[in-house]
Amino acid sequence: MEDIAGKTFQVVIVGSGPAGLTAALYAARADLSPIVFEGPEPGGQLMTTTDVENFPGYPEGVMGPQMMQDFREQATRFGADCRYGYVTDIDFSERPYKVTVDEKTEVFAHAIIASTGASAKWLHLESEQKLRGKGVSACATCDGAFFRDQHVIIVGGGDTAMEEATFLTKFASKVTVIHRRDELRASKAMQQRAFNNDKIEFMWDSELIEVLGDQVVDGVKVRNRKTDEVTTLDDVTGVFIAIGHKPNTDLFKGVVEMDDVGYIQTKGQSTVTDQPGLFACGDAMDAVYRQAVTAAGTGCKAALDAEKYLGELESEEAIAESHWK
Ligand code: NAP
Repeated sequence: MEDIAGKTFQVVIVGSGPAGLTAALYAARADLSPIVFEGPEPGGQLMTTTDVENFPGYPEGVMGPQMMQDFREQATRFGADCRYGYVTDIDFSERPYKVTVDEKTEVFAHAIIASTGASAKWLHLESEQKLRGKGVSACATCDGAFFRDQHVIIVGGGDTAMEEATFLTKFASKVTVIHRRDELRASKAMQQRAFNNDKIEFMWDSELIEVLGDQVVDGVKVRNRKTDEVTTLDDVTGVFIAIGHKPNTDLFKGVVEMDDVGYIQTKGQSTVTDQPGLFACGDAMDAVYRQAVTAAGTGCKAALDAEKYLGELESEEAIAESHWK
């Protein structure tokens, strides 16, 4: 990091999932020489996904980590500087903004793109973590198609769980929803759609206590919270956890408008935030779509919005300077 200490960049990108690396590609091609600090999980959530079959341009599908390597290579080919580094603080009180990396290296930025992503919430069972990517997933859209004609479970009672349960019935022979209460949190419309689907069954007042299997999932244990009775579902091969996501936006708390959950709020269809020079893209600002391709799309927007902002800033500064003289 010594090579960059004290340096001022046009654009600093925080986070390196599809949003951040697409922003880097566009910013690099616009001659903005962006630097990307990759964060604690370089490549983002796709690094823990196996086959990606829904990203356009890969007719045979691609492994998540390979795809992120492709994103990175494409951005660096045009001059983006992508490097390990965890942005630990940003001081927005003065321009250019001061960005602290790994608690020690300070660089400066005229524009900042927040692409810090979100993390799926997990139950944190040992067996769940052991079998992640081997039958345990937090994304039905990504992994549902691997469970054709099989029995899968989904944990959660919100809109995501109902939407994903319904989606999973396209492939699975049976979907069992495990919910910790006897009432769903999901909207009435989503609930009704799930109740009307013959392939969906519900286990109420229930919690997943163990995922069975060594290399792949071959069953689950579920405990009834009221009776304490433990049921083993031994034909289950897929476990979907849909208990919510948490955007990784703590770094921006207090400096930009967020919703209650922590998603950064952007203006209209843009990536512009209420902090001048800060643009937000990907899962850090999108609570609804959360797909690699939509994240990449907003990354592109963020770079274009930053480019426009920097152009305006430059002309403002030029005007101020000419007045001064
Ligand atoms: P959510 O609304 O927070 O629901 C999370 C669900 O998981 C709740 O039912 C909760 O149970 C359960 N849960 C949480 N922690 C748990 C734990 N440790 N163990 C077991 N169960 C646990 O999250 P979401 O469904 O992901 O939705 C997030 C936001 O996106 C919501 O505003 C939602 O409306 C929106 N969304 C909208 C759409 C759409 O409109 N198409 C689709 C998806 C999501 P309790 O109910 O007991 O708390």
